[in-house]
Amino acid sequence: MLKITNLSVSIDGKTILKNFELQVGAGEVHAIMGPNGTGKSTLAAVIAGRDHFTVETGEITYLGNDLLEMEPEMRAREGIFLGFQYPVEIPGVSMATFMRTAINEMRKHKELPPLSGGEFLKLMEEKKNLVEIHSKLTNRSVNEGFSGGEKKKNEIFQMAMLEPKLAILDETDSGLDIDALKVVANGVNRLRTPQNATIIITHYQRLLDFIVPDFVHVLYDGRIVKSGGKELALELESKGYDWVKQEAKGSYASN
Ligand code: ADP
Ligand code: MG
Repeated sequence: MLKITNLSVSIDGKTILKNFELQVGAGEVHAIMGPNGTGKSTLAAVIAGRDHFTVETGEITYLGNDLLEMEPEMRAREGIFLGFQYPVEIPGVSMATFMRTAINEMRKHKELPPLSGGEFLKLMEEKKNLVEIHSKLTNRSVNEGFSGGEKKKNEIFQMAMLEPKLAILDETDSGLDIDALKVVANGVNRLRTPQNATIIITHYQRLLDFIVPDFVHVLYDGRIVKSGGKELALELESKGYDWVKQEAKGSYASN
């Protein structure tokens, strides 16, 4: 589904991702962990198509297409979804209008007719239940005045509505209490199918108690320095990141 090879990315002349490599197959859940400032959000931004950085080298193939050649809106129409670390507020645009526009744009791309008002409301109710979202939130402007937890739940609601092929969740767990964390995890788990894939970016392993990843990768200094199964997250939880940093430094030195 997604293949990233030899990707180097810089911002203002500073290299953030360095010869980064990752492959994600349909049906897989990958967790990307790592200390702050190591390039996790940059990776998410590059995949989604934000343009404030420079791709120096490398390729990204998504469903057989050259992703870097695709406009951000085309990436979204083709099923890429980014849940933001810091969701933006959009005053004056109601959640319902925002979602209906987004969904009908995707349907147009698939040559499907737009959803009628009734169909849309039915879909919205179904997905709101899935993520246990308070009904009044969807009448309000997008994220405006939402609490931190509500903003994060709302990201999962949007994901549930759009049914992406590849979802990237950037620290959707940060700032959540345990109940909200379970709701978010539940949403992700229930949306999991053999056809779609999820990349979960998280600083802590506690979300991974509820969403069991197939692969865990540690991003450090712009590259993946360690990969493993779900047990790697537990090891990081008990031992911290220092040993991974030491191992990474050792391997640079021996190269
Ligand atoms: P993470 O998500 O792993 O905490 P980021 O990808 O957000 O890390 O950031 C990686 C590095 O890139 C950091 O050193 C950060 O300061 C820098 N960076 C991120 N965004 C920008 C930007 N817009 N301008 C300049 N530097 C940035
Ligand atoms: Mg980040």
